[in-house]
Amino acid sequence: MIDTDAVVIGAGPVGLFQLFQLGLLGIKAEIIDVLPEAGGQCVALYPDKPIYDIPGIAVCTGRELAQQLLTQAQPFMPTDRFGAPARNLHLGHLVTELTARSEGGFELRTDKGLQLRCRVIFVAAGAGAFMPRGLNLPVLDTASNVHYHLEAPLLSPPPWADQHVVISGGGDEALSAVLALAEQPDPNQRPAKLTLLHRRDQFQADPTLDARVRIMQTSGQVTLVVGMPTGAEVSDGHLDSLTVLGADGQTQSLELDHLLIRQGLSPKLGPLTQWGMALDRKQVAVSASSFESSIAGIYAVGDINTYPGKKRLLLCGFHEATLAAHHAAASLNPDAPQHLLYTTTSPLLHQRLGLI
Ligand SMILES: Cc1cc2nc3c(=O)[nH]c(=O)nc-3n(C[C@H](O)[C@H](O)[C@H](O)COP(=O)(O)OP(=O)(O)OC[C@H]3O[C@@H](n4cnc5c(N)ncnc54)[C@H](O)[C@@H]3O)c2cc1C
Repeated sequence: MIDTDAVVIGAGPVGLFQLFQLGLLGIKAEIIDVLPEAGGQCVALYPDKPIYDIPGIAVCTGRELAQQLLTQAQPFMPTDRFGAPARNLHLGHLVTELTARSEGGFELRTDKGLQLRCRVIFVAAGAGAFMPRGLNLPVLDTASNVHYHLEAPLLSPPPWADQHVVISGGGDEALSAVLALAEQPDPNQRPAKLTLLHRRDQFQADPTLDARVRIMQTSGQVTLVVGMPTGAEVSDGHLDSLTVLGADGQTQSLELDHLLIRQGLSPKLGPLTQWGMALDRKQVAVSASSFESSIAGIYAVGDINTYPGKKRLLLCGFHEATLAAHHAAASLNPDAPQHLLYTTTSPLLHQRLGLI
């Protein structure tokens, strides 16, 4: 059980900035995301696309913005000197339960059994938890050699080094996974064989990615199998093969060592709708001055909230996170003076930022 002041649900751009604002105000926070990487939509949906409307940054890509937000929040993300992930950043966890405690504050649980107790909550859940799209074959859920994300298995050594990997999908996620595996800097960590499984012989991907994978296909580095997976052989928790139905109506058995499903992510509001906050068309209704929801002590910021005039823009989410943090600070410490401090001149803020 982790005891803390605040929990931020969602490590998208707004959740990361929320953590930073809370840190400036001296509020200890944990941050949770179901994805294996922080950055929300910026990293999951448009990592390489340019953003032009962040104040003071003429242009940056989605991934660069997420990196900058992580760097900015670093003073409030304690880590060890070996560069391990920050102790208060919990990736790969879906927040499933949120309950109010009779003695005040809240308790949260994740699908991986993490439990947290806190005084205030910031829901920065965007359009919902990003869950990978599957192949509609429930038997795959029981197999340990089926993966959805590249990041964790890419930690060395990857489980598929020198084995046959089938990557399913025909969009950016699938094609960039083909390139990432084939171009692993250490040749010993590359798969022995790479197969791309897609329902047709055309990809729906960035033209540059498309062109690079076609070159690999021509040179034999990757084999394209066109068809729909209709069945799977799983024994002792291991997927041995997929049954693939081709456009010609013939089925074939595709044997493999690992299956990497890269068919995109879809956001699921899921558990959030059970937490008792008033919703307005699948968004959390909040006050436009404090960004508090219908439950005192639970704030909602970024794309997940709604109020008159709401715009789903990064800039608006950052503004909401700032005002929500100030409101929470005042309610957590009602007797403390609430002076507005500038990061340029305040020794207290410099101390919190670890500058002095
Ligand atoms: C293609 C595209 C281009 C865009 N371009 C721009 C632009 O140029 N300028 C601009 O201002 N905006 C742009 N946007 C919008 C911008 O990306 C969003 O406004 C922003 O990402 C919202 O941030 P957020 O942190 O609120 O939500 P998100 O980025 O959606 O992050 C929410 C995070 O919460 C996690 N989460 C949700 N529920 C749970 C749960 N129960 N447990 C654990 N984790 C959970 C999700 O997995 C996700 O990672 C664009 C959006 C898209 C799709």
